[in-house]
Amino acid sequence: MKDNKNINTDSSLIRDILAKSLDMQVLNLTEVSALLSLEDKGLWEEVFDIARRVKEKVYGKRIVLFAPLYLSSECTNDCLYCGFRKGHKDAVRKTLNVKEAVEEAQLLANRGYKRLLLVASEHAKLAGIDYMEQIIGALYENTDIRILHANTAPVSVEDFRRLKNAGLGVYQCFQETYHIPTYRHMHQKGTKADYAWRLGVMDRAIEAGFDDVGMGVLLGLYDWRWEVAALISHCRRLINKYGLGPHTLSVPRLQPAQGSNINWKYKVSDDDLKKIVAIYRLALPYVGVVVSTREPALLREELLLLGASQISAGSKTSPTGYLHDGDTEQFEIGDARSLEEIIEKIASMGLVPSLCTACYREGRSGEAFRHLAEKEGIKKFCHENALLSLKEYLEDCASDEVKMKLQKLMDGEIAKSANGLVEKFRLIELGKRDSHI
Ligand code: SAM
Ligand code: SF4
Repeated sequence: MKDNKNINTDSSLIRDILAKSLDMQVLNLTEVSALLSLEDKGLWEEVFDIARRVKEKVYGKRIVLFAPLYLSSECTNDCLYCGFRKGHKDAVRKTLNVKEAVEEAQLLANRGYKRLLLVASEHAKLAGIDYMEQIIGALYENTDIRILHANTAPVSVEDFRRLKNAGLGVYQCFQETYHIPTYRHMHQKGTKADYAWRLGVMDRAIEAGFDDVGMGVLLGLYDWRWEVAALISHCRRLINKYGLGPHTLSVPRLQPAQGSNINWKYKVSDDDLKKIVAIYRLALPYVGVVVSTREPALLREELLLLGASQISAGSKTSPTGYLHDGDTEQFEIGDARSLEEIIEKIASMGLVPSLCTACYREGRSGEAFRHLAEKEGIKKFCHENALLSLKEYLEDCASDEVKMKLQKLMDGEIAKSANGLVEKFRLIELGKRDSHI
């Protein structure tokens, strides 16, 4: 990235960049650098406003909800920031067996979740590829979860093929930091010490057939402006090489973790996190921007109004976390609200909570999805499917109080609907499930 002082950040340049994003074009690195070096508070308000508008242009008002399911905390790596690191001698560790994983997943399904993100530490023997295949198969067969994504250790092309064939939707992996000296310091032992192996993970996943991949950097390890530019550069390289970039960008921000060993020199402030969410949204307009429960409730609500499109809810970050407390968490969470509380909050903000998984059921992934997103065609699917998924939630899981509160949203949508929403809702009331367009 160029020296900040040399970058022209005058308002007309910034407004040209914003117009390009509103036109659904991917930004180049000079444009991303101009946003990264912007200081004018008034112009930042314009940037946030356009980021919100771009999100609504692509996805409408819907906000996708999911939960992580931690499978294992037994790790052969020693990432200095993580509660599962090998060097954390006091950690209480656990790898779920198939029965336990099914129990946790069904518990989440009973709360209303339809999509889960499987998360695991790296342990080739205890949580390797055979284990993952077994778990994925068992969860699809024995629970009401409709789509599984994974944030697990990088593997070879051949092993990625096995994960894809097992039915994983998105494969997600964070580079943590692109800055090589910082990477080496943070990852001194285990497979993860190999920077190049991690950097090539998206190439291997895409070559194995994953046309939806999720990327990110762990914010707080190094200068965030440098990392954001490097991440966008990585995305642009994938787009040039494969014709497709990331399906999602996440904004994991470093949290305190038991047994971690980090200094907070590069701590990312709340204001900076807002800028990062907006820049991701503008740089790759069609991308899903994901905010986890690492962040506190109020900040998450603000992020939803400036470009974020997916959030996790009611999360636990230890393998037995949903069934009972006991094993060590990966890091502390900032938003402990339940799925129901978050659904209610999102609806009260004039947004539409969504538990939809339709695109995976209809094969709208990779290039097909991006094409629809760029042509502003995906939001009509997203909006109706969000409402259908919410109707199922209200029928099956919601408390009477939340049902009453959300009825107003549903009535308003029925009044606006010209395409038979009433009939589809009636069928859901009669027991039809997985209704989508
Ligand atoms: N073990 C695999 C790996 O490292 O790629 C899979 C996922 S790991 C369990 C999930 C992610 O959690 C890591 O990629 C890292 O970015 C993030 N993480 C680890 N420690 C964290 C912390 N203290 N605060 C916030 N995020 C953290
Ligand atoms: Fe293991 Fe992943 Fe934690 Fe590193 S970040 S110690 S690889 S679980």
